[in-house]
Amino acid sequence: MIIDGKKIAGKRLELLKEKIDESGLYPRLATVLVGNDPGSQMYVRMKHEACERVHIGSVRVELPGDATTDQVLREIIKLNKDPYIDGILVQLPLPSKVATPKIIACVSPEKDVDGFNPYNMGLLFSGTPGLVPCTPKGIMTLLDEYRIPLRGAGVVVAGRSIDVGRPVAALLLQADATVTIAHSKTRDLAAEMKRADIVITAIGKAKFIGPEMIRDGATVIDVGINYLDGKLCGDVDFESVKQVAGAITPVPGGVGPMTIASLMENTYIAAINRSCSNAG
Ligand code: NAD
Repeated sequence: MIIDGKKIAGKRLELLKEKIDESGLYPRLATVLVGNDPGSQMYVRMKHEACERVHIGSVRVELPGDATTDQVLREIIKLNKDPYIDGILVQLPLPSKVATPKIIACVSPEKDVDGFNPYNMGLLFSGTPGLVPCTPKGIMTLLDEYRIPLRGAGVVVAGRSIDVGRPVAALLLQADATVTIAHSKTRDLAAEMKRADIVITAIGKAKFIGPEMIRDGATVIDVGINYLDGKLCGDVDFESVKQVAGAITPVPGGVGPMTIASLMENTYIAAINRSCSNAG
């Protein structure tokens, strides 16, 4: 079975647009882009297009590549205070001279639609999630839409980043899965993976995962975004692994579209939460 992230994301966005229209709210997302990396520019553009599609207003803040940490912090503080902004997304990675942890910690938790602020991460790991990081949220939505059982399931997450590996592990734990987080120092990744009912790879190495690492019938969620000979591909060697996997996400068209759909959902949630706390 091919897990069609593009289709599910389209469906979720359609539903979200209806909800937003019915709510009478006009949520607004601000994106912060530092520098002119073409990949980051493309991601920001896609996020603004998605906003338009679901009737979320969007504002762009752009800073030059040589912006200092203080300059970026000042922009974030302005957006934190702006009553018309519900969500703030800082496009990562930031240039190496900017102190990324400081920037992430500065985003007001209630507007932190990326869910990376330590406060939201703390909520997630203490079992009471608030705003949840978008890619992990998108993965959970896909598993849910395709009715992949999680309770008691053995899941191996390869990669321990704060944007994917760690938060998706917390969400899986919350859903009663038995989770192993593997990473670059894991002694025998293949042996860990071979035991798993579900494998989630967020490594960033093209076609690194072959069929010999996957148990027959396992679910394979490929988060990787890599280029091989100018072509986009995941961490998984899709053509060979799909022969053994029970269900698998393609790249492109798997997790990627879900990340953007989750960002839109988080912006709506932030707008609802803010409208309730303002009313109170
Ligand atoms: P990262 O790039 O920060 O780090 C890579 C991770 O892989 C590290 O935790 C490292 O320990 C692990 N790793 C490296 N070699 C390994 C090995 N041999 N075995 C096991 N683990 C190993 O991680 P990231 O930010 O989560 O990104 C990972 C990939 O996911 C990248 O290709 C990125 O572009 C992609 N990504 C995609 C989306 C999406 O929406 N589809 C979102 C975020 C990241």
